[in-house]
Amino acid sequence: MSIYLDNAATTKPCSEAVKAVCDCMEENFGNPSSLHRAGLNAQIAVDNVRKIIAKSIAADPSCIYFTSGATESNNMAIIGSVGVYGKRKPRIVTTSIEHSSVEKAMEHLEQNGFEIVRISPDRNGEISHERIVNAVDENTCLVSIMMVNNETGYILPVRRSFYGIKKLYPQCITHCDAVQGFMKIPFKVSELNADIISFSGHKIHAGKGIGGLYLKKGIRLQPHIFGGGQEKGIRSGTENVPMIASMGAAVKILSKNISERYKKATDLKEKLCSKLSVIDGIYINSHEDASPYIVNISIPGIRSEIMLHFLEEKGIYVSSGSACSKGAKSGVLKEFGLNDSFSDSAVRISFSHETTVSELSQFVKAVEDAKESLVKSR
Ligand code: PMP
Repeated sequence: MSIYLDNAATTKPCSEAVKAVCDCMEENFGNPSSLHRAGLNAQIAVDNVRKIIAKSIAADPSCIYFTSGATESNNMAIIGSVGVYGKRKPRIVTTSIEHSSVEKAMEHLEQNGFEIVRISPDRNGEISHERIVNAVDENTCLVSIMMVNNETGYILPVRRSFYGIKKLYPQCITHCDAVQGFMKIPFKVSELNADIISFSGHKIHAGKGIGGLYLKKGIRLQPHIFGGGQEKGIRSGTENVPMIASMGAAVKILSKNISERYKKATDLKEKLCSKLSVIDGIYINSHEDASPYIVNISIPGIRSEIMLHFLEEKGIYVSSGSACSKGAKSGVLKEFGLNDSFSDSAVRISFSHETTVSELSQFVKAVEDAKESLVKSR
């Protein structure tokens, strides 16, 4: 039996999501754009999921759009909103700890003449809402801030930042990459003050290749995929109905007990950190008040990949940092102030609601074994 502690990279689809995919592929395989009954049934299934997702964040179903995942959602949000609102406003504010799907989109815009202001964590590894708000001016067309950092679990002050920005510059578009917060941290769109929110299916126990966007009524995006005009012309292409159904099934279940699961994760994190903190040479990089679902640690002297493979041998799966970067060195931990020996030995442990205390104890024991044998063998 393996112990899967890499839920920030991807999650195991829940049985309801798997069933929804199978049911849909066997019984509801129509094209939502077709005018006959089979098409209508598929359209009904898609719109039903729109309602489920909208309800989970207290939004209107007409504001929910489906995409192939959060990478596409983030690109659509950033490039698409700048295409409409950035004509005479060449400044964009973001942070230096965003996911590559935001950062690379920003680099693309930078090469096309936009000024990108990236706010870095301060000496305490924090980004205050005041610093974000102060970076915005009347020439700023977009502010893009993630809800939870995927490598450390750091929770960014999105609500307070967007509130401050909207008060001063109501025309400035606010985008939140909520991938690591969606279905983990309860939020309502009205409280978040976000014009656009990105989320992903495979981080919440649905299938891969599905995600979405919340787009506030009245906010426009310049489309980048042209075709049949699906998703109100913003994102053409036949809808991935089975995966949309899987996301609906997962959200339906998870949205019922976000707070209880948060408490459970908090308890797991506390237990894990108290076990780790008594071991010599292990450092916890995540803040105490970070997302309870993600714990980032460093074991200086043992490179992340070595530790990862040692644990893998014992059937324990963790990440060496951001799984999306395929082992490439992430600059994000450096941004949080970690020096080379800390960032080169960083290991990310990320929970799901299925993670148990016993699994974490086995993980801690394996790390102790690793320290013993890897340090000895050098
Ligand atoms: N943003 C964040 C914060 C993420 O963690 C990820 C996935 N690692 C993404 C965006 C990209 O999501 P997807 O895999 O659905 O493209």
